This record gives sequence, structure tokens and C-alpha cells, in this order.
Amino acid sequence: MFDPDNEDYPAEAFAEEGRTGRQALWWELKVTPGKPNLLFGAEQKLAAWMAFNLDLGEHFTIRMLREALGSEVVPNDQEHLNRRFRELRKDGWEFPSNKDDRSLPSATYRLDAKGWNPALGARPPRNVVSERTRRQVLDRDGWRCVICGIGPNEPYPDGFGTAYLTVGHIRSREAGGSSQDLNNLRTECKRCNEPVRNEMRVPQTPEELLPSVRNLTRPELERLLAWLEQGYRGRDRLDDLYDRARMMGFDDREHLKAKVRRTLGLPAAMN
Ligand SMILES: [Zn+2]
Repeated sequence: MFDPDNEDYPAEAFAEEGRTGRQALWWELKVTPGKPNLLFGAEQKLAAWMAFNLDLGEHFTIRMLREALGSEVVPNDQEHLNRRFRELRKDGWEFPSNKDDRSLPSATYRLDAKGWNPALGARPPRNVVSERTRRQVLDRDGWRCVICGIGPNEPYPDGFGTAYLTVGHIRSREAGGSSQDLNNLRTECKRCNEPVRNEMRVPQTPEELLPSVRNLTRPELERLLAWLEQGYRGRDRLDDLYDRARMMGFDDREHLKAKVRRTLGLPAAMN
């Protein structure tokens, strides 16, 4: 029930129960605001509760959700629950489980992105990558991040977390890029997909780095020294070419690959 003294939730967390004029938290509604004959959907309650009760990066368990929302919204049947979670993901919610990211405790999820919830207004059209397309992109890219090369659940070289693969857009949806065109999609790990996360890396000490430095070849050492002296990572023409090539769509990259093979006198691609 709406309580003007309730400082736990902002005004947007409340809505009108049907057409009664009574205010309730979105996830406690029985009928849809303005539509007394329409029951308020379970997915919408779930989305609203998560939007107002969880912070980004926060861990949560099914038990927590069920205690807050009841088993009607968070069914005991795993199949039904999975279906509900799939629908949320189509609305932009991202919450890897322990199955996606082994650094999480078992039966635990981590909220990585908040998607649509009913307090934001009408549900947007679903223009996200379908499960089938996602599979196709991952299979095509060999289940590796096309930017850094890491595979699912592999630890990052800096020891900070394990990789979780996602399908990213080459041309973003905001810029009109398609979520159906395989040529516009590629496999990315969460860290490459959201470069902001790089800033979470822990600082290193010389003692930690020296063993690896000693293993470098002379040309590698010279390259490293040049980067250290100029204060940023220099790029040679190979880096530059590769970066430009990987920004291309799949077909274009295949085309370039075939050309390079031919130039080297190698037989056409072997799979
Ligand atoms: Zn990556």
C-alpha cells in the first residue's frame, strides 16, 4: 500500500490498482493499472521488483525472489522459471548464473544490466537477438570473444574473474544496426562488450610481472620497452590491420581471409 512516509521506495515504484485509486507497489498489484479486468503479469512484477530492490552487480538467489514475490511469480517448477527468465532477458535484463560465470557461488545470479520494467511505461518492441541467432553467432565464432579471444568460463589473464560470452552488435541498435543480421553480430566477452569494466582491474606490482617479462623474446622486449617509454600501447601496422579487419562483418572477414590464404599459397579454408 502506498504510504507517503515510506521512504524505502520512490514514487515511481507505486501504481494504481486497476481503477480503484488505491496505490500499491508495482510488484504487489493484482490487476493492471487502468484495466480492472486484466490481471497484472508475473514477469512484470518480477521486473519491477528487481528494478527497485536490486543494484547493478548485486548477487541474488531464487530463494530471495520467491520470499519477496511468492511462488506464483517465481514458480518452483524450473522449466516455468526458466521461461520467465528468458522473457526478462528479451527485455534487456542480464543476470548470469553460476552456470554462466563460475566465479559466482552456486544457485546465485548477478545482476549485470537492468532492462524494461513496467514503471518505465509501455513495453518496448522486442528487437533483441533470438536464442537461435545467438547460438548461430557463437558457433560461427567458435565460442570465443572475437576481440580478446577468451572462451566461456576461462579465467582472464590478470586473474580477475572468468569470461562470460555475450553476442554484441557491430553497429549498435541505437544506430539502426540489426539484431537479426548475422553479419552485424559477433561474440564478445562481457569485459570487451563493456569496456568500463576494465577499470575494475587490480593494480600489479613489478614482482608479479617480472617472471613473465623474463620469458619474452628480444623483439618482444623491445616492443614492450617502446610502449613503456612512450606511455601508451603503440600499434604496429599489423595491429592496425587486424583491428580494422575484425570490425568488418563475418562475410567480409571471410573474404579477406580467403585472399590472404591465396596470397600465401595455402589451400582454401579448412574447417
Ligand atoms: Zn573479450
